[in-house]
Amino acid sequence: MMLALNMLNNSDIQNLGTVTNRILVVEDEESIRELIVLGLEEEGFTVVAVGDGQTALNKCQVQAVPAQEFPFDLIVLDLMLPQVNGLDLCRFLRYKGNHVPILIVSAKTTETDRVLGLEIGADDYISKPFSMREFVARCRALLRRNRLNTPVELEPSIVQFQDIILYPEEYRVMVRGVAVNLSPREFRLLELFMQNPRRVWGREQLLDRVWGMDFIGDRKTVDVHIRWLREKLELDPSQPQYITTVRGFGYRFG
Ligand code: CA
Repeated sequence: MMLALNMLNNSDIQNLGTVTNRILVVEDEESIRELIVLGLEEEGFTVVAVGDGQTALNKCQVQAVPAQEFPFDLIVLDLMLPQVNGLDLCRFLRYKGNHVPILIVSAKTTETDRVLGLEIGADDYISKPFSMREFVARCRALLRRNRLNTPVELEPSIVQFQDIILYPEEYRVMVRGVAVNLSPREFRLLELFMQNPRRVWGREQLLDRVWGMDFIGDRKTVDVHIRWLREKLELDPSQPQYITTVRGFGYRFG
């Protein structure tokens, strides 16, 4: 949900806080699906539940563009699904630029599945069987994080994330109200991160997007630039809050 905060008055902002969260549950095992739906409805969420990937895709495509009209605030997604599988559904949404939080719920528990799920843009992963209490807590955490971390579009092309404001056309960045000098690479890196909050990037992907295909060198270059960027953005670069390391894969912003 992109909002121009300066166009809202206080009562609008309060209303935003009371909107019921809408959750899409995609799970083909009926018993698990019913359990999840019950658990979420008991917590006051509005739940739409479907049993296969194609139906989920249809529900998501109804109003997938523009993103602010997207009908769900969270998707709970099983991986092994008939027709369209969970990974493909997740990949499709992210490809469309949709940042709706996605919690993968799956019996697949290997490290590879986990990393792959995060790599293609899921936000969290919980393995079956799980306790309903932990599950609901994770849903709440994702919904809360999404509300806090939704980039606020002040005017076209200006991107804000918490107390970082980036002005792409002016090639300018303000951090906690202070202008910060970034090299062209650092600027491009930050722009990419801010335009894709919570997305996990592998080093190779960052090299492709920021340095270009013709870059000759090694992936350590990315780590070095991340370190420089952290020194300029973070209050405590050794405990980064903005750019976090995703072990075994790469980096995530937000
Ligand atoms: Ca399944």
